[in-house]
Amino acid sequence: LTFSQLELESTILDAVKRQGYTTPTPIQAQSIPVLMHGSDMLGTAQTGTGKTAAFVLPLLDRLIKNPRQPETSANPAREPAHNRNGRNSRDSRRRPVKPARPEALILAPTRELAIQIGDSLQKYGSGSGLKHTVIYGGAPKPSQAAKLRNNPDILAATPGRLMDFVGEGLIDLTGIRVLILDEADRMLDMGFIPEMRKIAAMAEDRDQTVLFSATMPREIESLAQELLTNPERVAI
Ligand code: AMP
Repeated sequence: LTFSQLELESTILDAVKRQGYTTPTPIQAQSIPVLMHGSDMLGTAQTGTGKTAAFVLPLLDRLIKNPRQPETSANPAREPAHNRNGRNSRDSRRRPVKPARPEALILAPTRELAIQIGDSLQKYGSGSGLKHTVIYGGAPKPSQAAKLRNNPDILAATPGRLMDFVGEGLIDLTGIRVLILDEADRMLDMGFIPEMRKIAAMAEDRDQTVLFSATMPREIESLAQELLTNPERVAI
């Protein structure tokens, strides 16, 4: 199997070729067709197997093939009341009028992984016209908040910082179509199960959920059962 045989959009194939990759890794060969078909997926794969591209390539493909509907003013509820009536003008941090409303969310346990996912989105998605942003804890908020004002299509995030920004009204997860949980077992170890549940509940209208984990402890199996619908299982 070569990348050209997968029916990925040409801008994605070009980006893959620019990286010098011709052959998908085993996890990519198994995952990409499943995800392009639109199925939910439960993947068992370690770091270093090419798992990032295994979910990033079909995600980009999906968003390119099914572009976001243009924003209309049909949903004025998105505009926080305190911005509409100007009562909050003494707030010098000036919130954006509208929260960012991404279409895809990739959750990762650590800043390092979130940044690495952002690098892949950049590498493979640079010709797609899709915008992405990375947010993570342990770094100042203002520059991340500023990036959200570009209304990214794709968000890569660690759970705690994401919940902070949601709580501050800077991110609206109700438009999420694809939810990807990467290294779910590490998120479990870090105590992020409640956040993963809350985030998935806010993204309730999504049409695809993907969970990757290096190991499948019982807690991850039951989280997958809760959040995924008829998932295909892929393991390498
Ligand atoms: P990951 O498991 O996602 O952390 O990827 C591990 C490394 O493999 C990264 O440096 C990727 O750039 C590289 N990689 C991903 N896909 C391929 C491929 N099909 N052929 C060769 N290298 C790849």
